[in-house]
Amino acid sequence: MSAPTSYVYAFADGSRELTDLLGGKGAGLAEMSRLGLPVPPGFTITTQACRSYLATGEEPADLGVEVAQQLAALEQAVGRSLGAADRPLLVSVRSGGKFSMPGMMETILDIGLNDACVRGLARVTGKERFAWDSYRRLLQMFGHTVMDIDSALFEEVLAARKQKYGLKNDTELDTGHLKSIVQEFKSLIRREGGEEFPQDPVTQLHQAIRSVFSSWNSERARLYRAREAIPDDLGTAVTIQTMVFGNLGADSGSGVAFTRDPVTGEPGLYGDYLPGAQGEDVVSGARDAASLDSLRTASPDVHDELAGHLRTLEHHYRDLCDVEFTVERGTLWILQTRVGKRTAEAAFRIADDLAAEHRISRDEALRRVEGEQLNRLMFPRFAQRPCDVPLAGGVAASPGAAVGVVVFDSRAAVREARAGRRTVLVRRETTPEDLPGMIAAEAVLTSRGGKTSHAAVVARGMGKVCVCGAETLTVDETARRLTTRSGVVVHEGDTVSVDGTTGTVHLGALPLIDSDVRTAVESGTSTGALSNAVLRSVAHADSVARLEVRANADTPADAALARRLGARGIGLCRTEHMFLGDRRSLIEDMILATDDDARRSALDALLPLQRLDFVGILKAMDGLPVTIRLLDPPLHEFLPDLTELSVRLATMENPARRDRELLDAVQRLHEQNPMLGLRGVRLGLVVPGLFAMQTRAIAEAVEQRLREGGDPHAEIMIPLVATAEELRLARAEVQQVLADVSGTAGRRIDCPIGTMVELPRAALTADRLARHADFFSFGTNDLTQTVWGMSRDDAEASFFPVYLDRAVFPVSPFDSIDEEGVGRLITHALAGGHKANPRLAAGICGEHGGDPASVHFFHRAGLDYVSCSPFRVPAVRLAAGRAALGAASGGSASR
Ligand code: ADP
Ligand code: MG
Ligand code: MG
Repeated sequence: MSAPTSYVYAFADGSRELTDLLGGKGAGLAEMSRLGLPVPPGFTITTQACRSYLATGEEPADLGVEVAQQLAALEQAVGRSLGAADRPLLVSVRSGGKFSMPGMMETILDIGLNDACVRGLARVTGKERFAWDSYRRLLQMFGHTVMDIDSALFEEVLAARKQKYGLKNDTELDTGHLKSIVQEFKSLIRREGGEEFPQDPVTQLHQAIRSVFSSWNSERARLYRAREAIPDDLGTAVTIQTMVFGNLGADSGSGVAFTRDPVTGEPGLYGDYLPGAQGEDVVSGARDAASLDSLRTASPDVHDELAGHLRTLEHHYRDLCDVEFTVERGTLWILQTRVGKRTAEAAFRIADDLAAEHRISRDEALRRVEGEQLNRLMFPRFAQRPCDVPLAGGVAASPGAAVGVVVFDSRAAVREARAGRRTVLVRRETTPEDLPGMIAAEAVLTSRGGKTSHAAVVARGMGKVCVCGAETLTVDETARRLTTRSGVVVHEGDTVSVDGTTGTVHLGALPLIDSDVRTAVESGTSTGALSNAVLRSVAHADSVARLEVRANADTPADAALARRLGARGIGLCRTEHMFLGDRRSLIEDMILATDDDARRSALDALLPLQRLDFVGILKAMDGLPVTIRLLDPPLHEFLPDLTELSVRLATMENPARRDRELLDAVQRLHEQNPMLGLRGVRLGLVVPGLFAMQTRAIAEAVEQRLREGGDPHAEIMIPLVATAEELRLARAEVQQVLADVSGTAGRRIDCPIGTMVELPRAALTADRLARHADFFSFGTNDLTQTVWGMSRDDAEASFFPVYLDRAVFPVSPFDSIDEEGVGRLITHALAGGHKANPRLAAGICGEHGGDPASVHFFHRAGLDYVSCSPFRVPAVRLAAGRAALGAASGGSASR
């Protein structure tokens, strides 16, 4: 047995509990050895040794001795020795950290070959060509990985030789060719590396170990970790393992196999097999592999043995596993296993199937699927993956599939949408000016910017399909055309298909289908295996969740959709959208009013329209709470744009009086910083009659619904409160109106009255606010902006990309709740609020409510509900259930 402080573990001494030390690969090999699976013998150097090497630049003192001991034991066990010309032992030196980072670090095969051993290998295997080909591969891998020589130089030698001999493939090289290539590789190494290729196998081994250690910090490994949020300080383990050969003839080969289909989740063995090949040939895809059926035909016994081992592994790990395997002259060897990566679709199916097979509990099945995965399954998709070449590829910034005609600016998108046409808005990059176009378009395509560009962030927020940073496209917004690298020109009005899931753009219309999952969730019934799996996991989530899920919805149609998707009410009904369109002139009248009478008559005209909106929404949400927020945005948002209006007036000979008045109003209401200006409760206190009109509309709508036999539950919410006195005054006004309407109606109309908590001062003085509030709703969008002191649109358009690149924060605080800052304020406010008012209800209504990772925090913080956009309701229900189980939040680690 290895001592506890040991740097090296034989496979027999490791286990999967030691993944931190042995890495996923080393731990998996140890676990399989213990289960009795055929694993070529070997040992693993710990991540601790790597950390020490990276810190000091030297191998830890005892490592050499421990490796020598393990190597001796290995040589004894297999009856071959490193460097023994008559019976040479060959090993692979393999990398593998705690988290799988496929292909990101180095692995070197065939260590142990030299000028003498290559002849020994030829003798023992009886395959001279094979021996020289292995030596050639070692020189190439070692020269590149350990001695840092450009791999292209080796490829050039190979290509030149093949041309000279008139050959097309590496496989056609004969022993004589390979011998002279070996000579040339050795001189290449001498010339470019400044040193001879080390003939001493122990030197080879240690140099290889050190280069695997160092590969932890290679550029691509670092990038991969940054993207997958894997910590940089874990280090890699190094596994030294006896080589087995899949390239020894027709009864040999290599492959990969899965216990279930990792793409669809379908049960049953799945994989690829390549006869006469080394493992790397399969993984690299250099040669086309056949399915496992070809192995069944060629060697049924080996196939059945493999199937048996896969069953053992799946039972043992209670999850989808994949393996790398090699067949050497009819003998099966397993070289790697891990719990396999899978698509969102497969994740749901596999978890559900394993639960149905009683291998895991329903709770465990729920832990294994994530809200973000469900979100992905809700989008429409292209009926089949196109086989033609895409016009371009870019960042898959917001998933889904969309078909539309190309437009090059916001105005055109809006115009086409009004005419009932679907569009794809194509821009070099987008700015807040493009917002109307983004809303109108089906998809957004940009040639610049990454996952955090304005286009990407906004599109994701709206659930729009987006591909950004398609750099091979030249977008000419003036000439209204785009050109691909191969010279294809697409004009405004041409149809394209955008796949936000794969990040590709195609010419023409690919057939689209609705997501079965979405249809199933909406209707509550399904026949497909995947949809059934999703329905069962969401139902189980509902049964264990403590957080209630509501939706943000402003129209009866959205409310009805949210309800079908499982929302238990509306957490945020904005009223500002009800003032747009035809009603804009009425609100203009209100703003332009110079006396009380004029203002009152403008408000009176708005009242019945508002009431109608509320009746529709209360009806759609009958029996469930509807939280209505009184008017929030600054008034100038309802007026024409200052510049536009000034230009229009300047070019008119006789501007109408109304236009001049409008311009006056726009100038009067202009603010440097509207986000921090006259809005929310401030408007309510400054504009006489505004909140009263809205409250009256709500109360009368409630009264009407009661008369109609409905069960309305309106709640009235005051936005942007900073001090208890604002809330006290607004509440008094609201209560007065409720009393008036009750009096007229002859029955008591009672609505809970609450406040948004979206300013730091409100959160800090929540105990005082709670005396005047029946509920709190945390507006985490504004709260994040005001806590961080930055406006979201400006920040995302200017410095966010740099901040994310430089890892100032791993994810944007607008995408995922900032627990340390904003989260602390929420916790503080809740404690204060509950202390002052034990019956206080509390929820959140910012966009964070739709982020499954944030939902875990809201659960822990003790909120009663979260509210999110209707489309995200199913994913958030899932997250609420997972949070109650204490499952991993699926946050940054899976991004
Ligand atoms: P990665 O983590 O990039 O997959 P691996 O360490 O798994 O790297 O090795 C790369 C390839 O070499 C794999 O196909 C693997 O099966 C093969 N390989 C590694 N060690 C051996 C060995 N001892 N004998 C035969 N093939 C091996
Ligand atoms: Mg591998
Ligand atoms: Mg707000």
